Amino acid sequence: MSAGTDVRDVVVIGSGPAGYTAALYTARAELRPLVFGGAVFVGGSLTTTTEVENFPGFPEGVDGPVLMENMRAQAERFGAEIVEDDIAAVDLTGDVKTVTDTAGTVHRARAVIVATGSGYRRLGLPNEDALSGRGVSWCATCDGFFFRDRDIVVVGGGDTAMEEATFLTRFARSVTVVHRRSTLRASQVMRNRAFSDEKISFAFDSEIAALHEENGMLSGLTLRDTRDGTTRELAATGLFIAIGHDPRTELFRGQLELDSAGYLKVESPSTRTSVPGVFGAGDVVDHTYRQAITAAGSGCAAALDAERYLAALS
Ligand code: FAD
Repeated sequence: MSAGTDVRDVVVIGSGPAGYTAALYTARAELRPLVFGGAVFVGGSLTTTTEVENFPGFPEGVDGPVLMENMRAQAERFGAEIVEDDIAAVDLTGDVKTVTDTAGTVHRARAVIVATGSGYRRLGLPNEDALSGRGVSWCATCDGFFFRDRDIVVVGGGDTAMEEATFLTRFARSVTVVHRRSTLRASQVMRNRAFSDEKISFAFDSEIAALHEENGMLSGLTLRDTRDGTTRELAATGLFIAIGHDPRTELFRGQLELDSAGYLKVESPSTRTSVPGVFGAGDVVDHTYRQAITAAGSGCAAALDAERYLAALS
């Protein structure tokens, strides 16, 4: 293990819209941010998608990886230093915080911005990731528009699944909700809304056993009955997976306060966490909105909060 003598003003952990926006603002404030962007996931979740049509400023839409490359270049232009590595350990307790990279090098900073995002839960089917953006999606707000007049399946039984299903009826010809159990977990009001929508039907006691593809696009599904194991085919060219997400907070457990679902707790509307000098931004904090623009907005807020915290120290 080695340690630099330099104590930075700010370390940012994460290089999605939240991390890069925090980097841009802290760099322009001349705080020399050191950004750990991840070893394999530089640029964050949007690097796994193609067209982004709802990020303001791009009337024709923008490719997800291109948008993230632009955000990176903009932060670097003002001096943000971006390292393509994971942070493996943190000690956030003291006035000077330490973060340790995968090579064991310890980096020190007076403020840390956590923007590690969250991951959508997957079904675990072999071609699920390959079909992402090719009929399989995790976000109706992001992708619903692309599914006009299609037969769509939503998998899940909670509020998010009902919300996605109801939202998708604006575009879809039909929506089938597939749920493993015979009753939904969703709240009464969300259930009623879905039950009363004539475009929505339900496949209870069912799970998705296989995804079929034609020319690289989703062309249908096999459903398996969870009670007797029998299978049946379902023609659908869209699948929205709404079985939850997991915030990437393992690293901070025991040091920062998390809520019951594992999300980082902040003193909303600020981005202050339970530890002075540590700020949280983006999907690692956000149960509700989970969009690139909201992540970028909270990255900006975290940078401003960090800037004010550092100014008060001097
Ligand atoms: P992320 O973008 O998830 O970034 C998290 C970052 O943290 C990554 O860089 C990762 O490498 C890093 N990280 C994690 N752990 C560590 C660690 N230990 N050390 C160092 N780095 C770490 N939103 C829209 O607004 N419009 C869309 O069209 C849209 N489409 C989407 C399509 C797909 C397929 C997906 C998955 C999401 C989509 N979203 C869309 C949602 C959007 O991508 C997220 O809301 C947004 O990226 C969240 O930003 P974030 O910065 O909080 O986290």
